[in-house]
Amino acid sequence: MKLTNIPDHIRDKITPTPGGNLVYRCLSCNEAFGIHELLYTCPACGQVLLIYDETFDRLKQISAAHWHEIFDYRKMLRHPSLKGIFRYQEFIAPVIPMDAVVYLGEGNTPVVEGNDFLKEKAGVRFFFKNEGQNPSASFKDRGMASAFSYIHYLLQTEKISDVITVCASTGDTSAAAALYASYLFPRVKSAVLLPHKKVTPQQLSQPLGSGATVFEIPGVFDDCMKVVEALADNYTVALLNSKNAWRVLGQESYSYEIAQDFEYEMADKVVVVPVGNAGNITAVMNGFLKFHEIGITDALPKIVGVQSIHANPVYRYYLESDKTKRRFAPITVKPSVAQAAMIGNPVSMPRVIHLVDRYNEAAGQERVFFVQVTEQDIMDWELLANRNGHIACPHGGESLAGMVTALKLGYIENHETAILDSTAHVLKFIGFQDMYFENRMPPEFKIEPNPDLINSPIYIHPKDLEAVPSPGDPITGEAFDRFVKRVSEEIASFMNLKKA
Ligand SMILES: *Cc1c(COP(=O)(O)O)cnc(C)c1O
Ligand SMILES: [Zn+2]
Repeated sequence: MKLTNIPDHIRDKITPTPGGNLVYRCLSCNEAFGIHELLYTCPACGQVLLIYDETFDRLKQISAAHWHEIFDYRKMLRHPSLKGIFRYQEFIAPVIPMDAVVYLGEGNTPVVEGNDFLKEKAGVRFFFKNEGQNPSASFKDRGMASAFSYIHYLLQTEKISDVITVCASTGDTSAAAALYASYLFPRVKSAVLLPHKKVTPQQLSQPLGSGATVFEIPGVFDDCMKVVEALADNYTVALLNSKNAWRVLGQESYSYEIAQDFEYEMADKVVVVPVGNAGNITAVMNGFLKFHEIGITDALPKIVGVQSIHANPVYRYYLESDKTKRRFAPITVKPSVAQAAMIGNPVSMPRVIHLVDRYNEAAGQERVFFVQVTEQDIMDWELLANRNGHIACPHGGESLAGMVTALKLGYIENHETAILDSTAHVLKFIGFQDMYFENRMPPEFKIEPNPDLINSPIYIHPKDLEAVPSPGDPITGEAFDRFVKRVSEEIASFMNLKKA
């Protein structure tokens, strides 16, 4: 669509222009700091920060109906970055001009409804939002798009001349960071720190392919995180973990898209997200809060945060119903197939505590819930979903298992509709499916394969065949005709095919 086809009353607002006044704000001492330098924690008290627009209320000058039109028309324009997270520029990073935006095709991910079979099994209507269809195959690309657009903006305005980005990762953060950094090569170079042997082969290949320097460190993610924090404290580097508040901003686009996907009717919706370092659930809550404050949505949807029983510090914190008695205690994680969420000491915990309170307060009732699920349920629901048209990884399975648990606990009601975060593509974690199918899941996961869900290839080599083709050694003539006939007969017999 051309700009001239946009209705007059919104045409001058359709292309986002730089505006707003962003500040880092400390969640503990409430101190504000300018965004001209990259801060990760409060220089006054050391607590994590969130970025606020001091002029946010100006967005109320545009009516909700007009915002709806603006977002819909932006989606139709040919400007590529308006199809991504910067469709919501005013709500994400209004200071960033559109020519600084780094767009690699992130965002605008599909919502795919569960079929009748799955709905019947699960007990409620639901959709997967397929974050695995982002460029590096996880939702982390949303946050990297905002963080790298900001870095690009600093480079363009010559506030900095070159950057080395670093992050610790359970696999997907590093894949996304390396990809976005490589687009800004050579002025941006990236290094990633991974816990040795704790990421999948696919996740290790991704940053290598993007040209990042990859360090493998003994221990688990929490140990890598400490090293990265030491690097950020003592050297000139840009830290790209979700401790970096710029990443949270981009990930808020997930909520904005859900709002737009469902015509801004959120009163009967439940958004289910797996929780690891808790950056994502922070962004999801903040996003819905912002739209709600401007009146763009009719209500705040329910939020359900899901954790594995092997990595459940956030769930444990909220087990205590008396708010005044809640105490956060980091835990030692056990192996989880939801490997990207295997985190015992989530960096964003103070943000979660702050936002859950604000969210429930704004909703006038409890709207945020936490549940835990077993490793068995995570794998079984993932595999069942994928036998019904989805492409969920274990974390998507965790969302579905969490939805079923929340329904049983009464947090979700039958008339509601759930939107499940399918946070990454199944292929990133395909080794877990293989181990399940081949019954070689290490015992510490406590997963027993369900025979109904196992699938394996069937090798067909009829015994009476004297010749079969092999690579570089084809067979021809009668021998080949016989090969085709016998193999097709065996397949027909196996499948019980009827004669045509
Ligand atoms: C990062 C990640 C998570 C956990 O998100 P947090 O923001 O760390 O809570 C879940 N699933 C996948 C696939 C991830 O990459
Ligand atoms: Zn502070």
